[in-house]
Amino acid sequence: MSDAATVAQGFMDVHGRAPAGVWSAPGRVNLIGEHTDYTEGVVFPFAIDRRAFMAADRNNDDVLRIQSLQRPDEVIEIPIAELAPRSDHHWSSYVAGSAWALRDAGHDVRGFDVVLDCTVPSGSGLSSSAALECATMLVAAGLYGVPVDPFPFALLAQRSENLYVGVPCGSMDQTASMMGKAGSALFYDTQSGDVAHEPFEPGAAGLALLVIDTRAHHALADGEYAKRRQACEEAARQLGVPSLRHIAVDGLDAALASLDADLGRHVRHVVTENARVFASRIALREGDYVELGRLLDASHASLKDDFRVSADELDVAVEAARSAGALGARMTGGGFGGSAIALVAIEGIGELSDAVRRAYAERGFEEPSIWVVEPSDGAHQDS
Ligand code: ADP
Ligand code: MG
Repeated sequence: MSDAATVAQGFMDVHGRAPAGVWSAPGRVNLIGEHTDYTEGVVFPFAIDRRAFMAADRNNDDVLRIQSLQRPDEVIEIPIAELAPRSDHHWSSYVAGSAWALRDAGHDVRGFDVVLDCTVPSGSGLSSSAALECATMLVAAGLYGVPVDPFPFALLAQRSENLYVGVPCGSMDQTASMMGKAGSALFYDTQSGDVAHEPFEPGAAGLALLVIDTRAHHALADGEYAKRRQACEEAARQLGVPSLRHIAVDGLDAALASLDADLGRHVRHVVTENARVFASRIALREGDYVELGRLLDASHASLKDDFRVSADELDVAVEAARSAGALGARMTGGGFGGSAIALVAIEGIGELSDAVRRAYAERGFEEPSIWVVEPSDGAHQDS
């Protein structure tokens, strides 16, 4: 297992000197509140026990020198003076973009060498992207004396992904990676900017939260994501509200009556999903995991049938998990592949995992990767 010491050694091997420090930031699982962070909605993610570790030191060359232990043959060098939004989706842009965002916000960040090692699987819907962005925020701030301010840093990391990398994401992933806390989920209201840590320790209730990484990545994900955003914006425009957050559940029927069926199903997902996030917070506070499971199931149905961002691999995993005794299961992340989560009694983990693997084999899908995740700490300096 990779950790701070491994990446520090990686830096030594490449640069022949010790790094000035090691920083890391986690990926995230979104418990519930999917496709709501770009319509001023509420989300409920938590930081996971898989992280992007970065060993780094200043250089005097005025360049960013970026290496990844997962890309051993590449050294990316970008002159600081040339940092500018590229929308190139290149892996190094998840790093360079954060340095750009800090500089663009007026901070005097200059050249540094960084070697990274990421234990968040890439492209699995667990936000390796935010892990890289947030770890870099701390690296650049740490090396150049910028005071760390977690929530503004999360928003700068999002700005970097939007503009520098070119992905029109909301701010959930970066906020979870920056601000997560062990043993809790992060209730984040993207309209007010309020963030609250809600205790979430399934193990203490004899339960586990499983990640089922389908390893499927459907090519249409990016384009479909952009289409969902556009549909939500168009619906808000037709309803005469600044965002779909302004439609409450008791106003849903009236809203649907004035929209065509296609925009209507988008609105129904977003409005009911926000309600499920609030209900999930109550369920957690009451220790009512049966209710939480029911909400996870309902979220999946809404994402599949109304928002239409699921995939066969996700549906098969969710169905098999439920049939094998999960209290609830849903896709997590943007969809079209990526990962599902299942809430299950600890003694049922083996049976559930076998059932999902069997269902995958029957369908001819690649074997999924299944493991227990723990709500973990957000970005920090390791050494
Ligand atoms: P997710 O955030 O769900 O993991 P994204 O597509 O948003 O998926 O981000 C994945 C991208 O992040 C990869 O395509 C790659 O560019 C970059 N990335 C992730 N992990 C690494 C790594 N270990 N080394 C280099 N780049 C990585
Ligand atoms: Mg991502």
